[in-house]
Amino acid sequence: PNNKAGDGKPRLLLMGQRRSGKSSISSVVFHKLPPSETLYLETTTRIKKESMHSFMDFQVWDFPGHLDYFDPAFDVDNIFDEIGALIWVIDAQDEYLDAIVRLNATILNLHQTYPNINVEVFVHKVDGLSDDFRNEVIQDITQRVMDELSDNGYENAPVSFYSTSIYDHSIFDAFSKVIQKLIPQLPTLEALLDSLIRNCHIEKAYLFDVLSKIYIATDTSPTDIGSYEICSDYIDVVVDVSEIYGWDRGDDEAQAGNNENAINDAESLITLEKKSNNYLYLREINKYLALICLMGDDSPADKKPLIDYNVGVFQEALAQVFPRGEK
Ligand code: GDP
Repeated sequence: PNNKAGDGKPRLLLMGQRRSGKSSISSVVFHKLPPSETLYLETTTRIKKESMHSFMDFQVWDFPGHLDYFDPAFDVDNIFDEIGALIWVIDAQDEYLDAIVRLNATILNLHQTYPNINVEVFVHKVDGLSDDFRNEVIQDITQRVMDELSDNGYENAPVSFYSTSIYDHSIFDAFSKVIQKLIPQLPTLEALLDSLIRNCHIEKAYLFDVLSKIYIATDTSPTDIGSYEICSDYIDVVVDVSEIYGWDRGDDEAQAGNNENAINDAESLITLEKKSNNYLYLREINKYLALICLMGDDSPADKKPLIDYNVGVFQEALAQVFPRGEK
């Protein structure tokens, strides 16, 4: 067995100071903890490694804020070798100057040896700030980080900023964008989704990781958080219902050899329903992924055979470029 912690799989690392919200974020996104219950979480005091059983096996390493991970006792290579992205959480409701100093020290340290790491800064807990103040804080943090890095000779550092809160969809949206950068097939997925919405007159299509509700791709038409919210809420409804009625999310791969068409047609969950003035089409794509399409207000019932057919084509193409997670 490979001794490396990540076994070659892309890894997400969640870092930031104590009480910045790291445990809350991973509990809400990956363990479906209701946000209000994070009040009772114990603050992180150790490195927590978790593997997510998802379409890709990323890991969240929950670092305690006070730990000095550049201490020689740490095996830095083992930590950063296979990393995909470093997510740095900053508590926007608190004094953040210290957090920025530590973030910059980390970036400058890493960039010598691991120039390919994406640094993703979550300006977190913005639910507590007014809209104006929120923008001001994000701008201030961005400015300070980028200025200080360029003062140290690191121009145009690959650092992205997101405003996040566990009390709304922003944390899922930010994670989606972080994950998408780690998917080499993304342009192909987007092209497939573009051709799907063109052929079926669909308004917007998302490919969701069902358990985390992160979307790993969408078509290239403009995205707004509202359509993501509608789809994400709908997944909750469908997953709740299918848990009652036994939507088999198990990994019974032995079945897959029997009869491919029967598997695809008989066992895929397909729904078409009207929610919030929008028809929503959902189809389970494989063990982890579901396709959700926003269809607008006109009843698409007569188009359903066309959509079913095109989604079938999409599903086959996806299996070629993105072989993980077949049923
Ligand atoms: P950690 O030490 O970085 O793991 O931080 P915790 O996850 O323990 O969070 C510290 C506190 O911040 C908890 O009381 C959480 O309820 C709170 N918290 C986390 N995320 C948010 C958020 O998005 N908004 C608000 N208002 N509070 C948050």
